[in-house]
Amino acid sequence: MQERNTKQKQVIARLILEAGHPVSVQEILEVGRGHMSRLGIATVYRTIKRLLDAGELQAVVIPGDVVRYEAVMPHHHHFKCSRCDRVYDLDGCVKELKSMVPKGFKVENHELTFYGCCRSCA
Ligand SMILES: [Zn+2]
Ligand SMILES: [Zn+2]
Repeated sequence: MQERNTKQKQVIARLILEAGHPVSVQEILEVGRGHMSRLGIATVYRTIKRLLDAGELQAVVIPGDVVRYEAVMPHHHHFKCSRCDRVYDLDGCVKELKSMVPKGFKVENHELTFYGCCRSCA
């Protein structure tokens, strides 16, 4: 039992960290069940918590949407496809953003999400 759990957690960890785009718990469960039919949601949550605690995983929060998770990587933004609900990573940041902020204000963080239709859905 213990051993099976450990193996399941390893598979899930790899699945999330190598997905190449942010994944929701539901997606993890669906893809994970393709490998392990008896995979339970509790194991998915436990694995996510462990990876978050270890600093290997970060949450991708899009307002009004489910939380997704991705491997920790440098600052970047996301594109959400409104047809297939998939979230894509975009490289880097918008340089002009800082010029929008009034003089004397110090920006500590910002969130930016693009919405639209992805290439597979177009
Ligand atoms: Zn991302
Ligand atoms: Zn799409």
